[in-house]
Amino acid sequence: MSSIKHTVVIVGYGGMGSYHTQLIKESDRVIVSGAFDLLEDRRTLAAEAGYTAYSSYEEVLADPDVEIILIATPNDVHKDIAVRAFQAGKHVVCEKPVAMSSAEFTEMQAAADAAGRVLMVHQNRRWDEDFRVIKEMYEKETIGSLFQIESRVHGANGIPGDWRHVKAQGGGMLLDWGVHLLDQLLFMIDSKVTSVSSSLSFILGNDVDDGFEAILQFENGIKAIVEVGTTNFITLPRWYVKGLEGTAIIEDWSLRGRMVTRNNASEKIEPTPIRAGVGLTKTMAPPSEGSTITEDLPAASELSSSFYDNLAAVIEGTAEPIVKNAEVLRVLVLIEAIFEAAEKNETIKNFDIYEA
Ligand code: NAD
Repeated sequence: MSSIKHTVVIVGYGGMGSYHTQLIKESDRVIVSGAFDLLEDRRTLAAEAGYTAYSSYEEVLADPDVEIILIATPNDVHKDIAVRAFQAGKHVVCEKPVAMSSAEFTEMQAAADAAGRVLMVHQNRRWDEDFRVIKEMYEKETIGSLFQIESRVHGANGIPGDWRHVKAQGGGMLLDWGVHLLDQLLFMIDSKVTSVSSSLSFILGNDVDDGFEAILQFENGIKAIVEVGTTNFITLPRWYVKGLEGTAIIEDWSLRGRMVTRNNASEKIEPTPIRAGVGLTKTMAPPSEGSTITEDLPAASELSSSFYDNLAAVIEGTAEPIVKNAEVLRVLVLIEAIFEAAEKNETIKNFDIYEA
């Protein structure tokens, strides 16, 4: 492995931009040298943290020591900042959602290709442990072949009081959180999305969605329900997945959860009917004793490298990107189908650009 450290300048030194300094410290292949933000107080913070605080983006682009531009601005300016970076011969790491549309992303990719530079999108939630546990269960069929995957994030704080309220800046929860949950699903499930239906919520009266629900049907039979809410004072589990042999639940990011599977060693005993409410049911009675097994969740599957170690290897030409741009484009196309399905109140088909 090469010992060269690749130099990054952060453009947009806000919440996520400054957080990247911590992420980059975890890699010994990449180093932050400076930052640029439109706001003077953010530039001052960067200088206080020991980074070169550039006074303009032109100054960043003109600095030959800057190899990589990390874009962590609001979404509407990602494309222009990226295209100018490629024209100046820099590599780009861009925050999610990489662009406001698939057309914008295609322009960014064309600029990267023309310059022969790397464009990598920070779809960091591929590394989340809760997701990797589900991915492990999907691949190993721990609870049998999965046929339903429900992926949710719920909060009760509304949309944060920043640009995320503003449609023209790429606000709204489908672009903000949806892009993560959809990226995880498409990364995991090796099958085409055959149809999507959805609804967006505008409970808080903004011109952008404060949450959404989308139902995706995959060609291999899996149905996925994806939901983001910002008005949920009681949250539903992060993951609820059903397989032919069992069911699993992950409550939250601390990985509280369990899986319950059919006990094939036990002889089949009919459940005893129970009184439920004012009625009687055998169908909904708990399984009879010994007919199921409750276990801890399996350990998470590993990705081959951290995001920044992978970036360094991609720049050096020694590895394939873990986050591939064809996959990023596919997620943007899916997001567009979800917007269209909600707007028309229709099921949308024949849109997925998946290639087996
Ligand atoms: P933020 O508002 O906290 O920070 C954005 C910063 O960009 C601000 O300081 C602003 O002054 C600056 N800025 C705006 N336009 C600029 C320009 N043209 N040039 C230079 N600086 C400019 O926003 P945030 O929460 O940090 O989000 C930034 C990006 O990071 C968004 O794309 C968001 O979706 C993404 N994000 C990703 C994650 C993740 O987990 N991957 C988490 C949070 C945010």
